[in-house]
Amino acid sequence: MRIRTCPNCGSTDIRPYMGFETGVQYRCGTCGYVGPIVVERDITLDGRGVKR
Ligand SMILES: [Zn+2]
Repeated sequence: MRIRTCPNCGSTDIRPYMGFETGVQYRCGTCGYVGPIVVERDITLDGRGVKR
């Protein structure tokens, strides 16, 4: 399973955020980061990498 995490705070609360001319960006619900870059992480069934 692959998840997206915030490059700023590491939160998994990343949601698509539609820009106008800039295409798809992402918004972090935890720290308010908005940008085109997210960190994709592979997680395993035991949930490592999701929370700590
Ligand atoms: Zn964040």
